[in-house]
Amino acid sequence: MRIDLHTHSDVSDGTAPPASVVRDAAAAGLDVVALTDHDTTQGWAEAEQAAREVGIDLVRGLEISCTHQGRGLHLLAYLPDPTHPGLRDLLGRIVEGRSGRVPAMLAQLREAGVAIEQADLDREGSRTAATGRPHVADALVRLGVVASRDEAFRDWLDAGRPGFVDRWAASVTEMVQVVGEAGGVTVVAHPWGRGGRSALPEEEIAVLAAAGLAGIEVDHQDHTEADRARLREVAADLDLVVTGSSDHHGTGKVDHDLGCHTTDPEEYERLLARASAASAASGRDTPEVVQPR
Ligand SMILES: [Zn+2]
Ligand SMILES: [Zn+2]
Repeated sequence: MRIDLHTHSDVSDGTAPPASVVRDAAAAGLDVVALTDHDTTQGWAEAEQAAREVGIDLVRGLEISCTHQGRGLHLLAYLPDPTHPGLRDLLGRIVEGRSGRVPAMLAQLREAGVAIEQADLDREGSRTAATGRPHVADALVRLGVVASRDEAFRDWLDAGRPGFVDRWAASVTEMVQVVGEAGGVTVVAHPWGRGGRSALPEEEIAVLAAAGLAGIEVDHQDHTEADRARLREVAADLDLVVTGSSDHHGTGKVDHDLGCHTTDPEEYERLLARASAASAASGRDTPEVVQPR
């Protein structure tokens, strides 16, 4: 059983529509795929239909942009009730904050000698809940300023670079609690990725576990072997689920092919058990895993 719990479609910053992501996941030999677009559940219905057509299990999720002590942190949320008012409010604020910073980014880039028009971005982000940094990154690639999206972030858009503008994001502790109230479960995404171990020190993982965090994404392309080994120990100490995923973005990110990292079936069962318990405790009508076979 091959399980990939982290993918993006073009409703956020992936390059393929949700139905294609699901079909490609089946074609790649996966048995379970989760669609986890940034801060939106907009792709769920299309993904569900495709999952039923091709006969692959689908976990409806999202990857939420949070902050923790001034740093950005991504939180995967699985199977929450998307109509939960608190969750909806927070997601709305995140999406507004993202779109709201784009004009300021374009102004700063212009100052630094790179002219990108808002119209260029509207074209890139036509299907998405909000235009944001990935769309500016793609425009930089298209203009030939940089060779790849990664380079665009590194040289222009990350904190400390000429195009960086801060924005509002939810506190990760608050988001863990709100997703729980919405009957879903949370897994911290690539915690020691780009920012290294200081992005989320071990003692902070313990704080999140106490707040209700269900798991840690351990097997991810941005983690070194040593970091994975240590995160496994941290997860075992805190009784957290260990996941592995591709963080697939279509052609938007290299080396993130569907199924390049997967989640152990036993860990997946533990995650689903935590989700069932959260759903029951919330008393809400939460989505189930789509199981067409
Ligand atoms: Zn992420
Ligand atoms: Zn992601």
